[in-house]
Amino acid sequence: MKVQSHDLAILGGSPVFPESLHVGRPNVGDRARLLERFNDMLDRRWFSNNGPFVQELEQRIAAMVGVKHCIAMCNATVALEITIRALGLTGEVIVPSFTFIATAHALQWQQITPVFGDIDPVTHTLDPKSVEEMITPRTSGIIGVHVWGQPCRIEALQEIARRRGLALMFDAAHAFGCSYHGQMIGNFGSAEVFSFHATKFLNSFEGGAVVTNDDELASQIRLMTNFGFAGYDNVIYIGTNGKMNEAAAAMGLTSLESLDDVVAVNRRHYAQYARELNGLPGVTMFSYDERERCNYQYVVLEIDGTQAGLSRDQLMEVLWAENILARRYFYPGCHRMEPYRSYFPHAGLMLPETNRLSSRVLILPTGTAVDAADISTVCQVIQTALAHAPEVQDVLLRRVMQDQEAAD
Ligand SMILES: *Cc1c(COP(=O)(O)O)cnc(C)c1O
Repeated sequence: MKVQSHDLAILGGSPVFPESLHVGRPNVGDRARLLERFNDMLDRRWFSNNGPFVQELEQRIAAMVGVKHCIAMCNATVALEITIRALGLTGEVIVPSFTFIATAHALQWQQITPVFGDIDPVTHTLDPKSVEEMITPRTSGIIGVHVWGQPCRIEALQEIARRRGLALMFDAAHAFGCSYHGQMIGNFGSAEVFSFHATKFLNSFEGGAVVTNDDELASQIRLMTNFGFAGYDNVIYIGTNGKMNEAAAAMGLTSLESLDDVVAVNRRHYAQYARELNGLPGVTMFSYDERERCNYQYVVLEIDGTQAGLSRDQLMEVLWAENILARRYFYPGCHRMEPYRSYFPHAGLMLPETNRLSSRVLILPTGTAVDAADISTVCQVIQTALAHAPEVQDVLLRRVMQDQEAAD
């Protein structure tokens, strides 16, 4: 299929996709195996409280990552909250603003102030120089985020944490199955947190896990995850309920079994996008280090509006008109969302790279829910729209003016 300019929905054509193409459409493993597990679970009548599927999932993840402890949880947000608390973080903790809002909320939820550091424009992760500038006497820790599964500048962050006496942990929600210098993500800092939310690389419907090599931290996290129960009738600690249930673990185990296939699909899609978008002025694709293990879960474009002829937001409008629901993660940045926007109205002055990147990033659909033909079509829409940028601009500007007139 060849997309001509008059075919573009934004210029009056009909959408190339009758049904929406989503970013992060869940991967589904072997359905028969999943249903078999559900039947086992129902037969056992053991639905939660460290059931056999949860135990198996924890063992398999620990083995795959090469860590001593894995604690499965109901989701990564609660896993972050609990890990932050178990590490004894207080006062201020430095996090990137360029992350999903849960990283910041997990701190603020327990009256710890997230202090937003800027990012490195190459890795899209915390810039160690910025971290250093944000340290105050109240700082107790650093949370790096391996955005897109791209590892943080781990060594530099470790060095700062050691020298300044700060705790270091990682939000590895995107980075399950990824490595750094050949070692699996999950082995760095005091602990790392994975998300198994439906949209993530490995999904258990909802779920997450903390992995750590620290025995004491692991047992404290386990206690906190189950109300502080150390045995029947014996609560020895303040805790909450962060437990993963058996249905989620059954899905997690089933997803784990098809993980190699998912990576292969993601990787093929990534290579196809890279090939078909290669050379488009103003369009850069975030590239992963092929020497490392990587899950290729995110296809990330950076749009330079001046060179491309259309801004990121304009290109997004073009794509949405075609039912290609490309996403601008993590726009506008945590520091421009509430409550942080009101608490720290000037935070953006220290975050030039975050502001720049969050106005340029666009995530495209990938995963097992799309195929090579879909990707070719998406790429052709982008090429055609950019080749006819002035026409598209014209239509979009006229729309804005009409909207304004309607509002007046
Ligand atoms: C998805 C995500 C989370 C939250 O994970 P849940 O399992 O949905 O609670 C946290 N941090 C980042 C960076 C994420 O992408």
